[in-house]
Amino acid sequence: MLEIKNIKKAYVVGDFHQNALDDVSINFRSKEFVSILGPSGSGKTTLLNIIGGLDRYDSGDVIINNVSTKKYKDSDFDSYRNHKVGFVFQSYNLIGHQTVLANVCLALTLSGIPKKERVKKAIKALESVGLKEHRNKLPNQLSGGQMQRVAIARALVNNPDIILADEPTGALDSNTSKQIMDILSNIAKDKLVIMVTHNPELASTYSTRIINLKDGKIISDTNPYSKDDEKLKKEKTKKTGMSLFTALSLSLNNLMTKKGRTFLTAFAGSIGIIGIALILSLSNGVRKYIDKTERETLSNYPITLESITYDMGSMASFGPTKEDIDCKDNTICTKDDITINPAIMALSSETKNNLKKFKKAIDDNYNNINDYTTDIGYSYNVELNIYDSNYKKLNDNNYPMQMGLFEELINNKELLDSSYEILEGHMPTNKFELVLVLDKDSNIPYSMLYNMNILDNSKLYDDIKPIKDKTKSKLDTLEYNYTDFIGLKYKLVLNTSFYEKNETWSNIKTNKDKLNKLIDNGVDLKIVGVVKVADTTSSASSNYIGYTHDLIKYIIDRNNESEIAKEQLSNLDINVFTGYAFDDNYNLDVVKRMLGIANIDEPTSIIIYPKNYEAKDRIKDIINDYNNEYSEDKIVYTDYVGILMSGITNIINVITYILVAFVAISLIVSSIMISIITYISVLERTKEIGILRAIGASRKDVSRVFNAETIIEGFVAGVLGILVTLLLCIPINKIVYNLFNVTNIAKLPLMGGIALIIISVILTLIAGLIPAKMASKKDPVEALRTE
Ligand code: ADP
Ligand code: MG
Repeated sequence: MLEIKNIKKAYVVGDFHQNALDDVSINFRSKEFVSILGPSGSGKTTLLNIIGGLDRYDSGDVIINNVSTKKYKDSDFDSYRNHKVGFVFQSYNLIGHQTVLANVCLALTLSGIPKKERVKKAIKALESVGLKEHRNKLPNQLSGGQMQRVAIARALVNNPDIILADEPTGALDSNTSKQIMDILSNIAKDKLVIMVTHNPELASTYSTRIINLKDGKIISDTNPYSKDDEKLKKEKTKKTGMSLFTALSLSLNNLMTKKGRTFLTAFAGSIGIIGIALILSLSNGVRKYIDKTERETLSNYPITLESITYDMGSMASFGPTKEDIDCKDNTICTKDDITINPAIMALSSETKNNLKKFKKAIDDNYNNINDYTTDIGYSYNVELNIYDSNYKKLNDNNYPMQMGLFEELINNKELLDSSYEILEGHMPTNKFELVLVLDKDSNIPYSMLYNMNILDNSKLYDDIKPIKDKTKSKLDTLEYNYTDFIGLKYKLVLNTSFYEKNETWSNIKTNKDKLNKLIDNGVDLKIVGVVKVADTTSSASSNYIGYTHDLIKYIIDRNNESEIAKEQLSNLDINVFTGYAFDDNYNLDVVKRMLGIANIDEPTSIIIYPKNYEAKDRIKDIINDYNNEYSEDKIVYTDYVGILMSGITNIINVITYILVAFVAISLIVSSIMISIITYISVLERTKEIGILRAIGASRKDVSRVFNAETIIEGFVAGVLGILVTLLLCIPINKIVYNLFNVTNIAKLPLMGGIALIIISVILTLIAGLIPAKMASKKDPVEALRTE
């Protein structure tokens, strides 16, 4: 069943040529106990390794079951070692970090036998060498004889045809040696046992055949065997292979034996992960915070549509021309200059919005736009001329992004009532009634008191002087009763009534008596209620005096039917004030504005208040739909808050990327470190590599063992990094909360955490690939020789 034919094997070290085996031929029976005797260096181990498929011969042939091994591939030898051969070594060669049972199971694992069966077979093998009870011990808890019996059990467990034992009793005392020999001779009853030994006495007592070697040559054979005695059958070899799970458990056990180093390596590897995870957590938290702020506090900032607007998009795409100026000699050529560009830009990006058409669309509830708005305000360039009882005009300046003193109330009674809570009095019931609107805390801004002439505007400087001089840190808190505001009376003067006709139309404002008389005859307005923003709403505006939409309609109607307005509207080419045609500056729009005449269907601006953050996006979508449908009357709108916020979000993204790029360097450093540590591990586990190869592990299996180790390291580093980050987020959040009253500023996104663990595993795996490859390339014979 096994035959070696004219085997030659030489080792060449430098110039020195050593013939380890020189034309050796032996034919073995399938059941016999062969002892190979010979002095040290005679080639015994080499012969055994070649028989076992661990080492390769230079010439000749090893014939297994009538099949030549000349054309054997590595995988065929791996399978041969795993299924047909069991090795027993002088130095036992057990894997120190694995239990007795696990050591015996290993060969079965490679042949892909299910776990239950593995354990059953391994226990049976241990029982046959009398060590069943010791199966959960580690090798170093056993005596030498016991360890060698474990090695024999391991060699037997796969039920091989051949047991190869290299000086199995070399390290044992004579009593223990006899026990081992008993076991081996027992095995030889139905297997081929080939044993290398120094001890002629043991050989002659136990074996059935003794072969003497000297200088790589056979000098005697006590029981030679002629080939034709036995019929040989052809057999197919089974493939061996280690599952990833086996590789992982092997490496995990190994890592557990050096917990300190594993932990430190993982920790070092985790630093980069911690860095990136922290940056991710913070940028995620900040982004969420901005989003939340935008939702909670900024959603009431409306989308504004102006009748004349500047298209930000086209402005951005307008740049200076880069055409080369090809100027002839002795001529003067113009060139593009910086100062004219803004003018060109402004003109070229100026667009007129057809708000008349858009208002019609809103009135027709285009795409249900009204479902997404709390209110839609229309303004008409009509100045409100409101005077108090001292003939003083109330400030009605409209600052951008800040409402003036007077503001039109939400024109939807239901919504109005739900948005505000009445503190005193009632909401206006007719167009001549006003209401004071306070914020949620029912406070009133100082500036509003000056604008209302409740505080004297002319004393403003004196009032704030102590703060300027730092003798006071803030203005005194003034207290008012709700009733102080109820009943405040004002006079409204129509824009058109400031002009009287003599020969041409002239302004009477310069004549104090006439003006005061005009004010006396003005329209009576009265504050009838004090309200505050209801606690349940977040998106209602505050700090103004509210008037009804009916009031503005009334003013426009009265202005339109005045004599001066009629005169102007009857002849749109002639300026009613000058009697001449309009010019570019003093045009019809300016005059209309002065006179407060307007078309109620044609607002100069539309302000859309979204219900909430999502509604705002929906409204933008609706405007886009409108623009697609009426491309000739496209509406350009401005979402100031949106522009501002997208800018900030972009900045945060850029900062995040830059920081991550920096921290990624530490990942590279830790990868190099993992690579070095894996290399050290390969050196440390050389013996284990030899053992694995001897019991049939392929090169791939070996590299898999080390890849498994780096996968574990990478996984531990990743998980550790994420855990540390989550722990660090707790104090960071506490501190930020205490300092800025912002919650959850550091919050690691789930997908980010998972991705980082995967990245950690992949990086360490890559870092360990080269050392693992080196491990797999190790010659098993040399690996077994190392101590
Ligand atoms: P034995 O087991 O009988 O003591 P070996 O088979 O180990 O002998 O070695 C046979 C001869 O081959 C010895 O002279 C030894 O020095 C040489 N030899 C074995 N392995 C190597 C090797 N890897 N490189 C060089 N020489 C070797
Ligand atoms: Mg030897």
